[in-house]
Amino acid sequence: MLKAEHITKQYQIPGGRHTVFDAVSDVSIELGNGGVTAIVGESGSGKSTLARVLSYVERPDGGRVFLDGLEVSACGRKEFHTVRGKVQLVMQNALGSLDPHQSVASILEEPLRLLFHMGTEERKQRCLELLDMARLERDTLRRRPDELSGGQQKRLCIARALAARPQHIIFDESFSGLDVTLKKQVLDFLKELQTELQISFLVITHDLDTAMYMAGTIHVMRRGKIIETLEHPRSFSDFQEPYSQELVEAVRSKRRALQ
Ligand code: ADP
Ligand code: MG
Repeated sequence: MLKAEHITKQYQIPGGRHTVFDAVSDVSIELGNGGVTAIVGESGSGKSTLARVLSYVERPDGGRVFLDGLEVSACGRKEFHTVRGKVQLVMQNALGSLDPHQSVASILEEPLRLLFHMGTEERKQRCLELLDMARLERDTLRRRPDELSGGQQKRLCIARALAARPQHIIFDESFSGLDVTLKKQVLDFLKELQTELQISFLVITHDLDTAMYMAGTIHVMRRGKIIETLEHPRSFSDFQEPYSQELVEAVRSKRRALQ
């Protein structure tokens, strides 16, 4: 279980020397083992900052992060080794997060070597399994990221995350910018994968529709805080906060525009 207690993360106000603001302010969140949780909020509400703290890319200025009871935000190098890779972050810009000079094979083999010290044969075998999990063809192994389609690049990022045998995967706007049909395909694939592997997924999005489609629990984030949490909302009318209602209205007007 991944648990964050009273997380605060501060940044300097651009141009304002020595003045800071809370990008994330006193956020507590628990992600169980398995299931899909979502965080939804407008751009600038602190979602990516929280994602970086939860995946221990950045340390919080206040509060604590625990993985299975171990305080990650305070542990030493030796203990850190036991939790390394257990929380994976998949970002929006798939291509930007992949090394353009590496082949798909070496991108997937890297975490296998670094985290599990696998030998050549074992790595090859595991690579094929990862491709299968991410529904990628075997002939993609020799290609480079820029020779893959947008959908394949997303799948490669997911395969690379899976290589670390994570307990949690955080998808930070990973599906924004995909066209509607491709997005639905990727979301359906993720649902299948989640059921298959029983890993816990945290889906971060500005789109309440995506959150409703994917998640059991939805947290609404605004200005660095979680302002509303719903367990298994059945319809948009379950949301009570006025700000959540604004997100609902945004979905409705987008649907009207698509009709
Ligand atoms: P979201 O992902 O919801 O769009 P972010 O977490 O990216 O929100 O940003 C929250 C706030 O923190 C924004 O005002 C953003 O400009 C600021 N911010 C994010 N990262 C940094 C950084 N590395 N340095 C300074 N300010 C940052
Ligand atoms: Mg963001």
